[in-house]
Amino acid sequence: MQATRGMQLHTKMAIGFAVGITAGVLANLYAADAGWLAALIRYVTDPVGQVFLRLLFMLVVPLVFSALVLGVIEIGDPRSLGRIGGRTLVYILVVTAIAVSIGLVAVNVIQPGRGLPPEVAETLLAESADRAADIAARGGAVSGMDLLINIVPRNPIASAANGDLIGVMFFALMFGIAATVIGSPGTRSFAGAVQGVYDICLKLIGWIIQLAPYAVACLLFGITAKLGFEVLVQLARYVGTVVLALGIHFFVVFPILVRVFGGMSPLKFLKGAEPAILTAFSTSSSSATLPTTLKCAEERLGVPRPVARFVCTLGATANMNGTALFEGVTVLFLAQFFGVELNLFQQVTILALCILGAIGAAGVPGGSLPVIAMILAMFGIPPEGIGLILGVDRFLDMCRTTVNVGGDLVGSVVVAKSIGTDDHMLPAEDGPAPSGAHGAVREV
Ligand code: ASP
Repeated sequence: MQATRGMQLHTKMAIGFAVGITAGVLANLYAADAGWLAALIRYVTDPVGQVFLRLLFMLVVPLVFSALVLGVIEIGDPRSLGRIGGRTLVYILVVTAIAVSIGLVAVNVIQPGRGLPPEVAETLLAESADRAADIAARGGAVSGMDLLINIVPRNPIASAANGDLIGVMFFALMFGIAATVIGSPGTRSFAGAVQGVYDICLKLIGWIIQLAPYAVACLLFGITAKLGFEVLVQLARYVGTVVLALGIHFFVVFPILVRVFGGMSPLKFLKGAEPAILTAFSTSSSSATLPTTLKCAEERLGVPRPVARFVCTLGATANMNGTALFEGVTVLFLAQFFGVELNLFQQVTILALCILGAIGAAGVPGGSLPVIAMILAMFGIPPEGIGLILGVDRFLDMCRTTVNVGGDLVGSVVVAKSIGTDDHMLPAEDGPAPSGAHGAVREV
């Protein structure tokens, strides 16, 4: 995914971003009412953007299902990892929930998506009204008690077909738990097949993301041609909100965890984690950073090998604090942008979805985008909004991946400390790594 015929993908994306915005703003200024502009948007830029979004949607169900099943199987292998699994799971859930909460508070306080002139907001809403109504009618925007009951799908295939991500996630979690408990040859070959599905999804994401530069140009052209310059100001506020919230998690929450629960000085931690943090920042991929993360945990932070191997390998795809935070901020930002009101209950649902979504996202550049597209659709927020954020996504991806990998290392220090010197809780040094499942995927 790195280089595409000489030019890096993210450079191409930046060019697509600049071309789409410049052409769109110019069109908005000089040809807002022209017939050719409407035709261009209708027959060229919109369809290209739509196809790209559909390709992302296409992968959501197999990706989320396979990632969650494999995640549970990895966590739950009682023979090789004893109580490390339980502690790691608690760590992942609690710290990811903290990360999403910081993001949600930041986006509610700063409100980066508000402030669009009312007439522009109305146009946007009117344009997406049909689709939003359709999604709502299919059960994507239910609220109250229904949302709780609907966590358990009546028919998982129908949930997948209707874009009911919570139902799919619940089904996948149950499947993974049962497969772990049984542990028979049959369930092991099932896990192998699911690993195959996951690997295929990763490959497809790699191909689809190559189209992103063109899709970014088209989606941004469409949006800026309709809305003009105001939209860019909001984008800058959105980037600021994400970076601020990620910064709070990285520079406030992590040091507290390292000091209080890990018994280590935050400065020593940062020094030890530096190579992994730099690799994460430059590759935007937790999976590609995994070898460096493991090295840092074992050799520079002194985490016992079995703990480092389990927590960091699993964490590379399942423990994504930065991704969860980013998903929460992005969904709420786009909801504000498109004028979709979300009540507290819906925001709490989004929190839960972001935690699971981060576990289900792949540790590759842009791995969280399919999940975001799906959450947007569930709440009646036009998924085209993704076009807005794609152009700035490379930078945000670098920042959130840094937080993801930092979180894995903090987790390894905290879990190691909580186990202390109870050697009987550690599996043998040369025991099987929690591999076979998605944590072991290292290629981008
Ligand atoms: N790039 C992120 C990672 O590898 C995933 C994402 O949020 O897109 O950790």
